[in-house]
Amino acid sequence: MTVVLSKDARVLLGERVRTSRLLGKDEELVLHGGGNTSVKLTVRDTLQRNREALLVKGSGSDLASIDENGFTILDMVPLLEAKAIERMSDIEMTSYLRTCMLDPDQPFPSVETFLHAFIKAKFVDHSHADSILSLTNTDLDDGKIAEIFGGKVLVLPYVAPGFELARYFMDFVSSIDISGYEGVILRHHGLVTWGETADESYDRHINIVSAAKNFIAEKWKGIQRREIEEGKRDEFIDFLPVLRGLLSRGNRKILYWDNSPEMVGYSLLPEAEEFSSLGPATPDMLIRTKMNYLYLRSLSEAREGVEKYVADYRDKFQRYIGTSYPMHDPYPSVIVVKGYGVVTSSPSYKESRIIGDQVRHSFRVSIAAKSVGRNRFITEKQAFEMEYWSLEEAKLKKFRKPELQGYIGLVTGAASGIGKVTFSRFADEGILAIGADIDPSIVFMTDKNGMKFGMKFDITNEEEVRNAFREVVEMFGGIDVVFNNAGYLKPSPLDELSLNELRKHIEVNSIGSFNVTKEAFKIMKKQGIGGNIIFNITKNVTNPGKGMTAYGTSKAFASQLSRYVAVEGGSYGIRSNVVNPDKIFRESKIWEGGVLEDRAKAKGITVDEYRKGNLLHMEVLPEHVANVVIALIRDGTFGATTGASIPVDGGIQ
Ligand code: ZN
Repeated sequence: MTVVLSKDARVLLGERVRTSRLLGKDEELVLHGGGNTSVKLTVRDTLQRNREALLVKGSGSDLASIDENGFTILDMVPLLEAKAIERMSDIEMTSYLRTCMLDPDQPFPSVETFLHAFIKAKFVDHSHADSILSLTNTDLDDGKIAEIFGGKVLVLPYVAPGFELARYFMDFVSSIDISGYEGVILRHHGLVTWGETADESYDRHINIVSAAKNFIAEKWKGIQRREIEEGKRDEFIDFLPVLRGLLSRGNRKILYWDNSPEMVGYSLLPEAEEFSSLGPATPDMLIRTKMNYLYLRSLSEAREGVEKYVADYRDKFQRYIGTSYPMHDPYPSVIVVKGYGVVTSSPSYKESRIIGDQVRHSFRVSIAAKSVGRNRFITEKQAFEMEYWSLEEAKLKKFRKPELQGYIGLVTGAASGIGKVTFSRFADEGILAIGADIDPSIVFMTDKNGMKFGMKFDITNEEEVRNAFREVVEMFGGIDVVFNNAGYLKPSPLDELSLNELRKHIEVNSIGSFNVTKEAFKIMKKQGIGGNIIFNITKNVTNPGKGMTAYGTSKAFASQLSRYVAVEGGSYGIRSNVVNPDKIFRESKIWEGGVLEDRAKAKGITVDEYRKGNLLHMEVLPEHVANVVIALIRDGTFGATTGASIPVDGGIQ
């Protein structure tokens, strides 16, 4: 730490943290890392000099959970000297801000840092509150809006975020005495308040927001909440893979369907179609939501609707952006379907959920704005310039999307062994991973990052499998990969093998694989964007072992099934392949309970010799299998391979 805070400074920062969290916890004020707060303090640098500093929310922090370390410390002197600079591009501004940082190891400060620096008050709070946007996204003039707050609030026209806004803001606040005011409303953007104490700034924020809410409440037309009609839920789940296919022509997408009564109600509003070109609540959402959403009056309009949307987006991109930046994915991120609710779409589940939250708030703002005046947003040109904001483009350039992001993959038998390892590898590769198992512990393998979901179901039960896939489609929109890995193994000499035991093997290894494959195949056909089915067969089909009659014959069914999937799936781009691992011990349940020892004994060798009994004299690991499965999914590697079997066995001796 190069900068030291005195005890008094720490107290003030503690106050800053406390009220920032209050602001951040209210999603009507701040959404997904939006909004920012600051405090001006005297700090001591490495050379024990006192420095006037601005501590402002750093990137990567969320106001709801921010702590002392979430605030980046900047030198106030160069921040204020920037007033002399007439123009700075946003890229230049970020370089400049970097030179103002007193501790270079801290996260990069908010792009709205200058706004905070130029206000002559100790504490500054900034949010994108719904109720404020409901007033600014209208044709109400500035004077009329200021009147609502008894003249204590200033209203500024829209200026794109970045140095331009800071500069404009600075000229404005330095031209008048702001001490008589409590805050500034930035049109189409949000609210800034200030105060000498953390509570003063926060209370002003809440009071202004409450006044806006009260003003709207009197005129609010609202959304009539509507439950989705009987039968429409099933119909829509049938339709989701079709929609996913249409949206995934370039990049695969994860769909998030919001069928809450509020969003179904919204989709049925007479204005829902007209609002499709209104834009989101704030311009900073445009990077995710885009300016327009796709409105569908019926499911049968989907194909034509998506095609029209894409053509229209390409035209506008040419008109407003041209050759400055590569075009973003031209498909809609938001689809409002009359009577069914709202679907949001992106290659990441987490992002789709965030877009879902953004549009829900945007719709509330659109309706509130219509209740108090006429809807007005920034122009289409400004919206495209914001969607292709230089700072975001610079970030995109550095960020390479994982090749398999947007894929949805299911692994059976995922609670242990090869299945468990593959389940995790899927998530590491950016695949939205669904782990299925009959072992209930699988549900605890769901992770909070939204990349791994555990589902308990029995693959031998046709209805359970059907319901499980229905749930997957309802949650994510479809399926791209299935790894049929679950297996049952109980060695027994042929003459001692009971019919009951044989049937058990057939139930899991043959029929279980069939049930899962059939449901996945149906969905993949509907999507029309190909797919991958991979079977874990083991070497027993090609190199039968003693005592493995039940296992090997039941797996032979699955092995042959793979070839039929290849034959029937070929024209749909659905590939089907087999991996044949042998002797994978780590994390495996199959070899527990003395099986390993018995097998070694049967061959008259030690356990270690048995483990490494292959041409390469190496232990084959579950990771070897998982990596082959990943390679099979990659079109660039195995895109031309179907109906094949790949050994992963160290070479059979
Ligand atoms: Zn802002």
